[in-house]
Amino acid sequence: MTPDRPISELFASGRTVRSLEFFPPKDDAQMAMLLTSAGALQGIAPDFVSITYGAGGTTRERTARAAALLKRDFGFTVMPHLTCIGHSRAELHDIADRLHADGFRNIMALRGDAPKGDPAFAPAPVGLRYASELVALLKSRHSDFCLGVAGYPEKHPEAPSLGADLDALKRKVDAGADFITTQLFFDNALYYRFVEQCRERDIRVPIIPGLMPVLSLKQIKRVTEMCGATLPQKLVTRLEAAAENPDVVEIIGLDWAFTQIRGLLANGAPGCHLYIMNRAKSALALAAGLAA
Ligand SMILES: Cc1cc2nc3c(=O)[nH]c(=O)nc-3n(C[C@H](O)[C@H](O)[C@H](O)COP(=O)(O)OP(=O)(O)OC[C@H]3O[C@@H](n4cnc5c(N)ncnc54)[C@H](O)[C@@H]3O)c2cc1C
Repeated sequence: MTPDRPISELFASGRTVRSLEFFPPKDDAQMAMLLTSAGALQGIAPDFVSITYGAGGTTRERTARAAALLKRDFGFTVMPHLTCIGHSRAELHDIADRLHADGFRNIMALRGDAPKGDPAFAPAPVGLRYASELVALLKSRHSDFCLGVAGYPEKHPEAPSLGADLDALKRKVDAGADFITTQLFFDNALYYRFVEQCRERDIRVPIIPGLMPVLSLKQIKRVTEMCGATLPQKLVTRLEAAAENPDVVEIIGLDWAFTQIRGLLANGAPGCHLYIMNRAKSALALAAGLAA
């Protein structure tokens, strides 16, 4: 299998890097939707796509299946996510070897979260505690892996302070991470301050802003509550005013994302990563709106 090009080379070329994130489908209907979206998105040729990693065995199998299909049938450079949760070191070595043998060279290395309220979940007996340990494990297993890690402009919800979280981020980069993708945010000032604080700590790798175009008020409230991102009141007011009209909610969400991206790129962000919830529409609209 031809090995993927490391994403770090794209950053080094200095051009804007555009990427999209999918999540593993829960059933065959969702898999069909993902594949339809992937087909539509071929037209805008993202530099890479990523696919998240669930906590359970079935979703993990679907991550692997979707990653293989996106790579083989659609020709995307695919960055599978991988988490520490529930895996022993030996299992992580096996997964790393399999991904490497299948040509994947880019991996998003994460700690992950234990599934809430899942009675079947059991922590791994000899596993890893932090994403920095996963970065070290993957790099020592295959030194040509290009690894992304997560960064949190509003700090990770469990971290006692932004400073402590930035120290944890520095450990991930020192362990070998090649770039950082941020948690979603809706106020660019948060990203600029975060980048500044990273640079002050000598974190020198590219920091890709992660953005989620709002498709529904209910959905974005749930997502932001889960991940601790702030929804600006101005955006909430607009979305609430349009609540009865889903199409108008989408227009407002797209307009917000469009303004964010234009500002970020104008201010030196190396690219943009879109959390698209497996739907093609927002990415297609944003690509058209940003076309030179
Ligand atoms: C871009 C992106 C993609 C994601 N994709 C997925 C996915 O595919 N699947 C999934 O399940 N989740 C995903 N997540 C969510 C992520 O798994 C959670 O946010 C998780 O709670 C933390 O993961 P992490 O890799 O940031 O962990 P870590 O970097 O390990 O940090 C976790 C917490 O521990 C603290 N910490 C780290 N190291 C130390 C240390 N040595 N001592 C003390 N404290 C420390 C940190 O400050 C933080 O509070 C993603 C998040 C982002 C931003």
